[in-house]
Amino acid sequence: MPPVIARRYRPQNFEDVIGQDAIVRTLRNAIAQGRLAHGYIFSGHRGIGKTTVARVLAKCLNCRSFAGPTAAPCGECESCREIRDGNAVDVLEIDAASNRGIDEIRSLREQVRYRPARDRYKFFILDEAHQLTGDAFNALLKTLEEPPEWAVFVLATTEPEALPATIRSRCQHFAFRAVPFPLLVQRLTQICAAEKIAAEPEALELIGEAGEGSVRDALSLLDQAITHADLHEGMTAESVRALLGRVSSGRIRELLSCVQKDDAKGLLTAADGLLAAGVGPAQICGQLTQAVRNALVAQVDATLLEGPEAERAAAQEEAAWFREEELARFLQILLRAAGDLRHGQQQRLHLELALVKMLHARRLTGVEEVLASLGPVEQEGAAPRGSGFRGQDSVRAGRTERVVTAPMAAGGDATPAPGIASPAPGDATGAVRRALEGMGKTALVTLVQGAEWRWDEKGGLELVYAAGDGRAAMVSQPNIRKDLGAACLKALGRQPEVRVRTDATAAPTVVAAEEAVALPGSPEERAEQHPLLRQLREQVPTHVLRTRTLPTGGQ
Ligand SMILES: [Zn+2]
Repeated sequence: MPPVIARRYRPQNFEDVIGQDAIVRTLRNAIAQGRLAHGYIFSGHRGIGKTTVARVLAKCLNCRSFAGPTAAPCGECESCREIRDGNAVDVLEIDAASNRGIDEIRSLREQVRYRPARDRYKFFILDEAHQLTGDAFNALLKTLEEPPEWAVFVLATTEPEALPATIRSRCQHFAFRAVPFPLLVQRLTQICAAEKIAAEPEALELIGEAGEGSVRDALSLLDQAITHADLHEGMTAESVRALLGRVSSGRIRELLSCVQKDDAKGLLTAADGLLAAGVGPAQICGQLTQAVRNALVAQVDATLLEGPEAERAAAQEEAAWFREEELARFLQILLRAAGDLRHGQQQRLHLELALVKMLHARRLTGVEEVLASLGPVEQEGAAPRGSGFRGQDSVRAGRTERVVTAPMAAGGDATPAPGIASPAPGDATGAVRRALEGMGKTALVTLVQGAEWRWDEKGGLELVYAAGDGRAAMVSQPNIRKDLGAACLKALGRQPEVRVRTDATAAPTVVAAEEAVALPGSPEERAEQHPLLRQLREQVPTHVLRTRTLPTGGQ
């Protein structure tokens, strides 16, 4: 079946144009006040009514049922009918994409020079006008500079900024906007009623959503959906989903739910189920992106949500599962994955990687937050740092406490050296850190800054990290502890007993770029030792493809 509906329901007058109210109003006023321009730029996405409005304007100017231009052409006279059918002598539609050269524009200029054959105006519609060559633009400019009284040009374009400024300054510019979702759905509903086609509301909502603001795309999808629909059941949401290759929103929601529950196995199993059912990785990624985006929008302002009612309700619920930064991070991950998926190689791997990254993104705090909390190292006072993170993340609260290590290994003497008094706890913290800096161990400074420093009455030191914070394990490594011990000796004249532990009530996990720097070995070796990677391995087979050293904070 040819795209019947798109043709049959093409707007024939201003009343039928949807979603471009401001433009229609301005054009009507211009006609009423006799203030028509010779050059117009109609810009905007494809299929939102640029050439349709241009044709309606041509009818307004040339309708023979009126003595002059009218905002309400009759639609029945010779001119109106010929314009509708696209064969009016004085209305020329030129596809600039295939007639982009100087010769075509020269012949156009020739035509402009002669009066209209029959109608009041010679009306030129240049579609995809930005495709014209430089010479063609120059030739066109000469015409626009001194247009004959009967010539009107409409330059329709998806890229108005690609038009030369000299052309733009000679034209009135109308920016067409994407047709709002409710108007599209309303239009689809009207058409189905007029055509006596039974359609589920959700089916039309899905079509409206897939139209992405383009009436033409939505109507052509409607045509396909009508053909695709079951004769007895009519047009169901399910049949439209199948047509669009879309997965039901419930299955996309399942993926998000697994991320929310920190369930890696469930997540990969759900993805596998979709892939096994023949859904493409790019489709899954695209719909997941949309779901995350909707959840983010729902957090900001739920009234801005578009799409089927059921999906909007789901988005509001999902919005409560995650924090705004998490959703923003998911979006970054998914958009990058979409880019990778476009290259076609190892699609499944890219999708799974993105899913696992989303899972892990929930356990991370942004490097920006880390850097912000660290502040300039030189001005570091005595107060323990890291407490700024406390309570920011309720997600991690309630995880079990896990003591990573016990006393200092590096030959430490737990008792103060004779003759040296223990400094006050605050002073001790600052002194040890300054000593570390003095030793050039700046990476270690940032590593221990993530902990809360607790000095007990005997002068012993406890470094407390949040549960799951990988830095606790790193600080516990012999070589790191050795450096820490040396700094204590330098600053305090003694080596206190140092304990490192994690605590569910302490500051939450922070993954800082500087962690990797603090470890010995090649970047690959350091990455292999990274606790997050180890955690990841517990859930999926993982190997390091590439490492990158990030700038460290506070230096
Ligand atoms: Zn007419």
